[in-house]
Amino acid sequence: MPANPQRRCVGCGRTAAKGDLLRLVALGGELVSDPAGQRPGRGAYVHRDPACYRVAARRRAFSSALRTRVNVADEHPNAF
Ligand SMILES: [Zn+2]
Repeated sequence: MPANPQRRCVGCGRTAAKGDLLRLVALGGELVSDPAGQRPGRGAYVHRDPACYRVAARRRAFSSALRTRVNVADEHPNAF
């Protein structure tokens, strides 16, 4: 079986291929997207779907996934 990294969406909780998810990291207490996957540290993954983002934001799932308190805008700061 070829390597096909899977990650869990912190919004809907489903696993998906890493490429189908957007990586987000904490940077200076703010949640920022990491489309290239190059920022160091722990990442949280979410579907490229504003609905998943909103669910995760409401549940404070980003802070739990990143193990740090992070400011999360109600709407995704970057266009999907
Ligand atoms: Zn999702």
